[in-house]
Amino acid sequence: MDTRKRLQALQRAASPVASASMALDAAAVPDHPACMIGSGQRCEHALVDRDLNRLLFDYEQKVRSRFTRIVDVLKRISTYQHDENFTERAQQHAREQLGFDLPSQVLEDAWVCGLDLSALHSRCTFSSLKSCVENAQAEQAGWRQRMPLDENFLRSCGYHTVDISPCSDGRLQGVSPYVLRILPGPNVWVKAYAGALFDVEVDVSDWAQREVERLSGAMVDGERLNYLKIAVYHFSSSSPNGQGCAAHGSNDRQATEAALQRLQHELREAIDRTFGAGAAPDVLLIGVDTDLDALRIHLPDGFGEVNPHRYFETAQIYRDTVGLSPEAARARIAEIVADAEGMGGWGQGNGSMREGMRRLVLALAEANLSQIEYVIKHHTGRYATIGHDEECIVAGEAVRVLQLRNLFYFAHLDTIEEGTNDMDVGINIFRKLNIAHGLPVPVLVHFEYDARIPEARERAIARGRRVRDAIQARYSDLVAPGLLNCAIAVSDRTGGECCAFVTDDVGGHH
Ligand SMILES: [Zn+2]
Repeated sequence: MDTRKRLQALQRAASPVASASMALDAAAVPDHPACMIGSGQRCEHALVDRDLNRLLFDYEQKVRSRFTRIVDVLKRISTYQHDENFTERAQQHAREQLGFDLPSQVLEDAWVCGLDLSALHSRCTFSSLKSCVENAQAEQAGWRQRMPLDENFLRSCGYHTVDISPCSDGRLQGVSPYVLRILPGPNVWVKAYAGALFDVEVDVSDWAQREVERLSGAMVDGERLNYLKIAVYHFSSSSPNGQGCAAHGSNDRQATEAALQRLQHELREAIDRTFGAGAAPDVLLIGVDTDLDALRIHLPDGFGEVNPHRYFETAQIYRDTVGLSPEAARARIAEIVADAEGMGGWGQGNGSMREGMRRLVLALAEANLSQIEYVIKHHTGRYATIGHDEECIVAGEAVRVLQLRNLFYFAHLDTIEEGTNDMDVGINIFRKLNIAHGLPVPVLVHFEYDARIPEARERAIARGRRVRDAIQARYSDLVAPGLLNCAIAVSDRTGGECCAFVTDDVGGHH
């Protein structure tokens, strides 16, 4: 049972809304996951890294248990909230089970009109995020060492920077380490936007900054390396009209074409027109089936142009190559990719993709087989919750060390004005997830700063406060009844301080 359903059970009798949504999930079970356990089909692929999968699963369990335990603790302490030594007992319980203190004011006020479980739930969510950040280095060390697409590999394909824009949807928040098996690092950026509709001006500026470093000789091997932009849209194979991308009305085709338009006709053109033809970075368009974490990879042609009809799918590759030896499977994958590349008609391209791009595409296809099997082995072939199940919203810049499916909904923004659409989509998701069950929406406003630049930290905090104030003003209908709680945190981009909460702002409304 998930966190919210359990807390809801604790607060009041199960509501018909929850049962209806659970029934809907059950009805949406796909008929054809990549591989059905118990179907007699062999579900062990020769190219899967099972040790890496185990390490990733251990990490996923550790992170999720922090949030599951919140409900157990709140449930427990609410049973003795009228006892004489309540505050001390509750704090001791929280310290033992959660590893942090509860806000004592909330506990001390409990005798007046009962324990404010909603406020505590938000505060515990923020504190648990903080614990995930603090323990990230130790808890991620194992899988980080085994990640196949690390910086060296990306450089061998010809890329100094990989800039990934998935949709803000929580189901894509683990896309880099889990679905793509690309090691998150200083030169792998994840900037999520509703519908994968990234900000072209921000990207031009990020690209230009790396160009300066490359051309000034500050980058090793800079003369042969390029910048790669990846847009990641998503769809749901088992519930195409219900659990696809909310920003595109669950319309698969619209999600594909909108992301393609932005990559090809906006970003590439913007850079070619500003800096001269041929300056544009390489681009790649990838679709994720969020039920299975399987990929649809669109192949660039000899001119780097991507096409909505020229692609291959890794779920099909898994089925076609399971049971083959590693060598035979690799040869078959290369054939499938070459076939997709050579297709005529609507998928016709102009020449073959660059060899570095081919190397990357083949590696992505192979690495994703491990993720497909991860979902088969650890999530019974498809995720139990194929829809939204995020714990909170993160607005601003990504907390780089936190990348896990459905941990949060992420809206990349500098000001609330430009991020309005992303925030509205997120708030609407949480109206169903939390508010419908009487739980507030926790919103973490997070910005990075560069510790080498004087006053940068103060400016990041000031920006956080402005965005927090704007969010509270925009959703004032939720703030008044205590259904939206904001916290502000900042991180040093160069690696020092990570996700430090601005203490006077934690919790917001109480
Ligand atoms: Zn989406």
